[in-house]
Amino acid sequence: MPADRAAIEIDQVIKRFGDSDHAVLALDAVSISISENEFFTLLGPSGCGKTTLLRMIAGFEDPSGGDIRLYGESLTGKLPFQRPVNTVFQSYALFPHLTVAENIAFGLEMRGVAKADIAPRVDSMLRLVKLEGFAKRRPHQLSGGQQQRVALARALAPQPRVLLLDESLSALDLKLRKEMQVELKRLQRETGITFVFVTHDQEEALTMSDRIAVLSAGKVQQIGSPEAIYDRPANRFVADFIGETSFLSGHIAAEQLHFGAAGSLPASVLDRQGDGVAAVAVRPERLQLAANGADGTGLQGVVSEVVYRGVDTVYTVQLADGQPCRVRNTNSLGASRLADVGDRVCLTAQPGAFHLLQEAS
Ligand code: ATP
Repeated sequence: MPADRAAIEIDQVIKRFGDSDHAVLALDAVSISISENEFFTLLGPSGCGKTTLLRMIAGFEDPSGGDIRLYGESLTGKLPFQRPVNTVFQSYALFPHLTVAENIAFGLEMRGVAKADIAPRVDSMLRLVKLEGFAKRRPHQLSGGQQQRVALARALAPQPRVLLLDESLSALDLKLRKEMQVELKRLQRETGITFVFVTHDQEEALTMSDRIAVLSAGKVQQIGSPEAIYDRPANRFVADFIGETSFLSGHIAAEQLHFGAAGSLPASVLDRQGDGVAAVAVRPERLQLAANGADGTGLQGVVSEVVYRGVDTVYTVQLADGQPCRVRNTNSLGASRLADVGDRVCLTAQPGAFHLLQEAS
């Protein structure tokens, strides 16, 4: 469990690259507090500044403004090796000519750990990442997933207080990646080390993190638990970037949420009260699809696309007011198709299913 104590405080950090005429503002007054023992993820699209932020915590880049503190102490002026921080890179960066054991021992030797203490520490790291029996192999004799484990063992061996992971799973195939997601979470739990994980993969972030900071164009868009970010996105960017979302424009009046010719739903489908023009976001799994005209309630539309995905089926419905909206239905055995392209259907929603976006008046 993450403690209340802050391990890392990123305080109004600014990063500019280049000279004043052609400067890129990679980070724009970013403030994040990461707790001790937390699995914290920096999530955002390519170019949002997440790697730059990680590199600044590691000491490979200096902030142009603001401060980064580790357990209350400013990191300004501290070289990478003077920080109780270690990094696992996307490329693993293993030494090809050294064995697995020598790779893991490398960081310990560099830090002056006594020779007698190195072998037992290497053994315990091999056990931790489940690579007992691989000590004498060289990196080219390992699979991608095994190399990843060695890179983790090497980074964890010196017992850093913080482990930084930069897109560490992106070189693995999907199945291995899912296995390593569970594995990383276990390693974090067992070691109690604060993990700061960088990814552009929202599913990965939701699966593994205690908390997530969503970044876009150098700015923090939202910080919160996976549930908070998924269920209560702070703005349109977050709602769009995390999970599947339909954005609709409606009108709230007389306890109803109206969608023109498509009809209306009771205002209880909204997650908070509002009035007038409403920009709403809704997850496909929070809607239900029914044959048209069952009891006359719900939003009317025509199915324009059906995508079968095994576990579920996603229907795109062209609502009668012209707006497209997606509905996801979990498939049960023998009943995987609720409607076909061209069918007239009706959508209903659970209470609170529609998230009223902040920008709505
Ligand atoms: P990706 O997922 O593609 O790695 P990212 O979110 O990690 O992206 P950064 O690598 O942190 O993004 O880059 C943020 C911005 O800063 C980008 O616009 C990038 O082009 C710019 N940038 C990063 N490093 C430098 C540099 N050394 N010189 C100039 N601009 C840079």
